[in-house]
Formats: sequence, C-alpha cells, structure tokens
Amino acid sequence: MQIGVLTEQAPYERRVALTPESAGRLIAAGHSVHVQSGAGLAADEDDDAYRAAGAMIGKTPDEILGIVDLLTAVGQLDQQTASRLSPGTAVVGLASPKDGRGPAGVLVDRHATFFALELLPRITRAQSMDALSSQAMVAGYRAGLVAAERLPRFFPLLMTAAGTVPPAKVLVLGAGVAGLQAIATAKRLGAVVEAYDVRAAAAEEIRSLGAKFVSLDIESQTSTTGGYAREQAADAQARQRKALTPYVAAADAVITTAAVPGRPAPLLVTAEMVEKMRPGSVLVDLAADNPNGGNCELSRPGEDVRHGGVLIHGGRNVPSELAGHASRLYGANMSAFILAMCRDGVLLSTPEEIAADEIAAACCVLLKGEFR
Ligand code: NAD
Repeated sequence: MQIGVLTEQAPYERRVALTPESAGRLIAAGHSVHVQSGAGLAADEDDDAYRAAGAMIGKTPDEILGIVDLLTAVGQLDQQTASRLSPGTAVVGLASPKDGRGPAGVLVDRHATFFALELLPRITRAQSMDALSSQAMVAGYRAGLVAAERLPRFFPLLMTAAGTVPPAKVLVLGAGVAGLQAIATAKRLGAVVEAYDVRAAAAEEIRSLGAKFVSLDIESQTSTTGGYAREQAADAQARQRKALTPYVAAADAVITTAAVPGRPAPLLVTAEMVEKMRPGSVLVDLAADNPNGGNCELSRPGEDVRHGGVLIHGGRNVPSELAGHASRLYGANMSAFILAMCRDGVLLSTPEEIAADEIAAACCVLLKGEFR
C-alpha cells in the first residue's frame, strides 16, 4: 500500500501522523511511505530521518496525494486537502468527519473511506492503537508541569535555614488517563495530591498513585460503558460543584481533566468557586478547548486569565506542546492500526470485511463515500 504523511494544517498543530520510526515499521511490512518535505519538522523529525527509515519525500501535498491509497492524519483535514484526495483514498485520523466539523461533504464526493481513531474500542487487541490514551497521557503530564510552573510557590516540601516551606496542595478533577498522569507528575514534583472522579472505580487508581481520593457525599457512577463516565443531570452537577467547593478553595493548584465522550465537558468549577481560592493559586483546565467550554467557567483555550488573584490556564491542543513524544506515540498507534486493518497488505475495504472486524467496525465512519 502507498501511505502518505502531510504537514498538518490545523492551527497550533505541531504533531506529525507518522514519525520515521513508525514509518519504518510500515515499510518493513512491505508498504511504501511518502512524506511531504518538512512534515515532521515541528515534531523535531527532519526529511533525512524519514529517508533513512526508507520513506520517500515529496515536495508538495499534490505529489503525495496523487500517489497514496491511505493518508495518515492527526487533526482535521482542511477542505483544500480533502478536495485533492484521489478518488477512493482512505484516511486514518483523530477527527471523525461525522462530528459535524471538517470537510465531510468533500470526503463523500471523493468517495473516501475514513477510520476515526477516537472511536477505537477499548479492548485488549486495540491497546497498542489507543491514540486517545497516548495523547491524554501527554496532556496530563504537561498539565502537571504547567501548574507547577504557573504557581508562584514551591511544589515540594523544603526545609531550609530560612524556615520550612510546606508542599503545595494539588487537586485533580477527573482521573482518567490524563488525570492519572497529572497526579503522577504533581507527585513526582513533591506536591500533596488529592483527586476526584465521578466513576467509583477511579478511587483505587488514584490511591495506587499515592494520592488521596476525595470522597464526596454524592452519588458516584459504579457502572460505566466502555470505562467512560456518563453525563450527569443538571441537579447532580450542581450538587457535585457544591460538594467540591471547599476542596477547590483549599488547593494551591487545581487541574481539571473531566470529559464525557461526545458530550460537552462537565462544568466543575464556577467563577464563584474560583473566588474562594487563595490569591496566587492556579487552575489548569485541560478541557478548555472543548467547543462548548471547559471544566472551569472562566478558562479560555490557550490563554492565561486572571480572576482576582487566581490564574486560570486554558489548555489548547496540549499534546502538541510535547510534539516530539506525542508524535512518537501517535505514530506507533497509527502504524499498529494500519497493520491491523490490512489483510495480505491490503486495507479492509468491503462492508463485510469491515463488519467482521470489531476494531474496523467501530472506527470506520465513512466507507467509499458512504457514512456508516
Ligand atoms: P475521558 O477522557 O473520557 O474522561 C476523563 C475523566 O473524566 C474520566 O475518568 C471520567 O470519569 C471523568 N469525568 C467525567 N465526568 C466527570 C465529572 N462530572 N466529574 C468528575 N470526573 C468526571 O476518559 P479517559 O481518560 O479516556 O478514560 C476513561 C476510563 O477508561 C478510565 O478508567 C481509563 O483508565 C479507562 N481506559 C481503559 C483503556 C483500555 O482498557 N484499553 C484504555 C484507556 C482508558
């Protein structure tokens, strides 16, 4: 198969869909990889590294798009790129054309096939392809660092000749993949960490990292679908915010990572709650670039907002801030996915073949121009 990699077009996107390492894996399996010159530069991968891995370098997107059967992507394809796809090209990426954004109509016109990695089922066979988890892990790590960097106080306990500095208190709200990595990062930096998640199962994972589980006197979710939380009703959300208020007020740094797939991010911290935090405290909202707003009422994607004495940092494409490792993990997920979707070197392409494979059936949202 001829596989393509272009420079990502979405704003603030620094990642690349395949690194030389992951391209090499596909080449070793008998595929050819064509990379647009400079596609990996923002992720610290130059053309020579791709050449050394056996990939071919094309100067323009058209050079690549004219050849490939499968285009790998990270973010949303722009209209122009989508309109230049050869008829019948398959695309693998993280932005389903079914979500109402992006060039869905053009992809239909081009009879394209689209595999959306965010729809990957969380089954054992798919773990190596789990791009949502790898990118959430990067984001959680960054959130811990950003909180430490923005806080005008130490994270660790320090005993000095000038006196003892107590450790910072960090509160993590939402303890999925990103939240657990934020907990681990804040712990490594010496903070005292507590965390809360609406899923009851998260308590054990929080404790296993040496953090304290915040047990609220409200209902938690004991059963989940695919491990994901469900959206709560408005009255339950209000009870949750009320119960969280004293914990938010007591924290030096709050890191919010709560999400519900396909739904707006839950509002966990209101302006009123921020007003109860001490001056100099910080809040890092990883959900801030959600189109409907983040976990904190005051956060703005990519901005530091001051409210009273509190600094609120809104995340915006946070995995791209660590583009090198984010791309390395994403590329590993991407190459594992492509290899799993091939039979004798050819991509699954009939409705029957797609339906017979649990991963393909979950991820294939568009097949030869028809939405499934
Ligand atoms: P996610 O990004 O969808 O959500 C992040 C976290 O926010 C979740 O833990 C969720 O419970 C929490 N949340 C949602 N609403 C909330 C609210 N109102 N208040 C507080 N917290 C709220 O989730 P994720 O990080 O993708 O992971 C979800 C689960 O799936 C985790 O248990 C994770 O360990 C598990 N997981 C399993 C696999 C696998 O089995 N292959 C892979 C990755 C993750």
